Amino acid sequence: MAPSTHPDLLSLEPDALHQALVRHFENRGQRSYRAGQVQRWIYEGLARSATEMTDLPAAEREALSESFRIDEPVVDRLSESRDGTVKHLWRLVDGHLVESVLIPTEHRLTLCISSQAGCAMGCTFCATGWGGFDRQLTPGEIVGQYRASRRWSEEHDRGAITNIVFMGMGEPLANRAALHPALTILNRGYGVGARRITVSTVGVVPGILELADRPEQFRLALSLHAPDSELRRELIPLEKRYPLAEVLDALQRFDEAGGKRITFEYTMIRDVNDALELAPRLARIAAQVRAFVNLIPFNPIPYQDWVPSTPERIRAFASALVAGGVEVAIRETRGRDIEAACGQLRAHALTQMGKARR
Ligand code: SAH
Ligand code: SF4
Repeated sequence: MAPSTHPDLLSLEPDALHQALVRHFENRGQRSYRAGQVQRWIYEGLARSATEMTDLPAAEREALSESFRIDEPVVDRLSESRDGTVKHLWRLVDGHLVESVLIPTEHRLTLCISSQAGCAMGCTFCATGWGGFDRQLTPGEIVGQYRASRRWSEEHDRGAITNIVFMGMGEPLANRAALHPALTILNRGYGVGARRITVSTVGVVPGILELADRPEQFRLALSLHAPDSELRRELIPLEKRYPLAEVLDALQRFDEAGGKRITFEYTMIRDVNDALELAPRLARIAAQVRAFVNLIPFNPIPYQDWVPSTPERIRAFASALVAGGVEVAIRETRGRDIEAACGQLRAHALTQMGKARR
């Protein structure tokens, strides 16, 4: 059997992993506690191969690597910003590249991860969107960014990763086959609290409804960027398929499902979506789903000549929202000096932190 057809230990949900390992060791006439040993190596030891699992007999390590793979992405490049932000470019088994970013703040370390290689959504303000879609990530490739980042962070004394945000490359709710298991694995396998994991979406309605139906309290961020369908359509092609009204209905379901605060991400682009007249409407829809609003200065991208709103305009917009009864925060861009291609990562991952502090 070719190695690629072997199950990937990182892609299996904890229960399935346990069962697969118990079966494997039973077939080899081994005691079932061996399954627990391997699970600990996966979730706590962050092992990259069976050879690292030193409390297994050599023959068992070999048998394990013949029956399973561990497909963790490997570092292609690492860049570190003066402000402590660290960007990893990961190479997947077939050579595709995805990014994740570690963002330290006073009391937390947030990891921003990718859910797809590229993105098919084509948002006009997004570098990933302009690059097009390459392929879906597997659950193991999503989780692998976390494991590898956690290992790096431990080795470099940066402390524990406290929060995870799906604000890297890709639309997580367009890869639900991998997102759902990845959420379960991060939460139940690696012990990352559901409230510390945020899924950011551009508005994939069926995916929002699925998240609403999950029992865990994963958090949701909607990339809104415009308070009405007409303007939103110019920025986000998906608006034609899932109009704002439908997205808001889905968010209401999510809100009613209990206790999970929704965030609106609003990237402020000068003379595109920053007119003060838009603020009252934004305030109204935020109130409708009790959303917190993050205003983020647009990060210029190579593909067109838009620029960020002025700081004065962003402040005035924020004040108008506050006057409308909305909680709002203005976010700064981090790690500008290591920005490179995927400009949106840091500023947006940052948005989670302020929220969790409240
Ligand atoms: N696809 C998901 C998650 C990844 S994008 C989503 O769209 O929500 C993460 C965030 O970066 C989104 O809020 C997106 O709107 C924002 N973003 C993309 N390009 C940006 C840019 N050039 N400047 C500022 N924010 C940007
Ligand atoms: Fe994809 Fe999000 Fe970029 Fe839109 S903003 S193209 S959904 S990554």
